[in-house]
Amino acid sequence: MCAKIMHAFPTEASAIQHLKKMLTQADKAISPITAYAARSMYPEHISDQFHFQCPSAGCTAPVTCRSLSSQSKYKPTFVNQSVKIDLHKDGCPYSPKFENPSSAVNKKSTPKDTFEFKGKLESHLHPVLFQPPTPAATSTTTQTNDLSGTSITDGKYVRHTSTPGDRKRTKEITHHLRSMQDHVDCFTANKNSLVRNAFFSRPQPIRNFFSHVCQNEFDSALDDIPFLKIAFGSARINELPNRPELLRITFSESVRLNNHTNTRLYPSFLISRTFLENEFPDILQYIDEGRPSLRAFIRAPFILNAIDDKAYLNFDITPEALLYNVHFYAYQP
Ligand SMILES: [Zn+2]
Repeated sequence: MCAKIMHAFPTEASAIQHLKKMLTQADKAISPITAYAARSMYPEHISDQFHFQCPSAGCTAPVTCRSLSSQSKYKPTFVNQSVKIDLHKDGCPYSPKFENPSSAVNKKSTPKDTFEFKGKLESHLHPVLFQPPTPAATSTTTQTNDLSGTSITDGKYVRHTSTPGDRKRTKEITHHLRSMQDHVDCFTANKNSLVRNAFFSRPQPIRNFFSHVCQNEFDSALDDIPFLKIAFGSARINELPNRPELLRITFSESVRLNNHTNTRLYPSFLISRTFLENEFPDILQYIDEGRPSLRAFIRAPFILNAIDDKAYLNFDITPEALLYNVHFYAYQP
């Protein structure tokens, strides 16, 4: 698992000039910025999602900012731009090939800002699929556009009563996992992270909210389970010959139908190209890079469709709801 890119350097001259203007000492070098800071500079000082590079000293590997526009449905996030051709310098902890950032030979190259959740985690996953964020939910989010690199905090501070001999006040943060993106980020950071959820009396490892796509449920099973898990698996992305506005995502794992035919089908779904262009621009690049497999996450029950006597295993979800119940990574993050 390579380190998650929490900061990156913008490469556009107007962005660099803007950041330099904000420095108190003229001779100081600019620091890499958070994805939220990048969003605050779009489109005035940053014009494109692809105009970023690795925060590692001396590494010029390109980095993409997903969901850069403030109109985006997702939180802005930095990801590696090129996965098949790894352009990071030798030993860079952000290289997708880098297995374990904590074992870096050169300690100086170990990032200080590896991604982890500190504090309590609370999942808002419930029987209903993920919905567009409501104004009430977003108002509890503290979004820091601080260009000095302070990362975003989503949660509330809880002050513990200080005990004698310990005059320091500890602040504990509760991270609220409200969206598909929040759950996937937590799962990919550490599958064993303990998460509270109204369904369970005790905290559960986040992996209990996920299942391999071959174990995904059909609509008919939904009455018998407390909630639908987030299905995931490796998948391919394909263009459709007659419908350029859509792309097909097909999971690589087949599912055996529990009927007399015992047919095996590969689950697939269609998704809007414009949506991917805005929220997952790095994923679209993989089509050009020869379609290596990506990691897809979806929360929707299976549905069996028949077209021209051929059976297809798809997901029962409207195109609009799909946009809030899907996530992708180009590699094992
Ligand atoms: Zn790098």
